[in-house]
Amino acid sequence: MLVVKKGAVVGKGVQVVYVGRPSVLGNPFVIGRDGDRATVVDKYLRWLREQWATKRPARDELLRLAERVRNGEQLAFECWCAEKPRAAYGLEELGNKKDACHGDVIAYSVAQLLKGGV
Ligand SMILES: [Zn+2]
Repeated sequence: MLVVKKGAVVGKGVQVVYVGRPSVLGNPFVIGRDGDRATVVDKYLRWLREQWATKRPARDELLRLAERVRNGEQLAFECWCAEKPRAAYGLEELGNKKDACHGDVIAYSVAQLLKGGV
């Protein structure tokens, strides 16, 4: 799974999924207003877990995305705060990569679903 900036050109065969605001997986936290990038990504991780636990629409969207990956699609999560197209970071990398983005949290969550956990 990839994380790309809105409008970035991705490779052939890659399906782009917009996850910025106001999509259901958009980050309700804003860099600056709600903290620096790392803080906002961390808040998003906690928010997404709460969405999952309380069966909010974001949960269904994660399940749909996991199904698409399971069916062989290569997905790129597109949002405004991402920088260069790159492979999504894992959970342990979120805190120490200065270009980490909420798309990484989504990719991590989808990967966890594919492994059978959340
Ligand atoms: Zn983002």
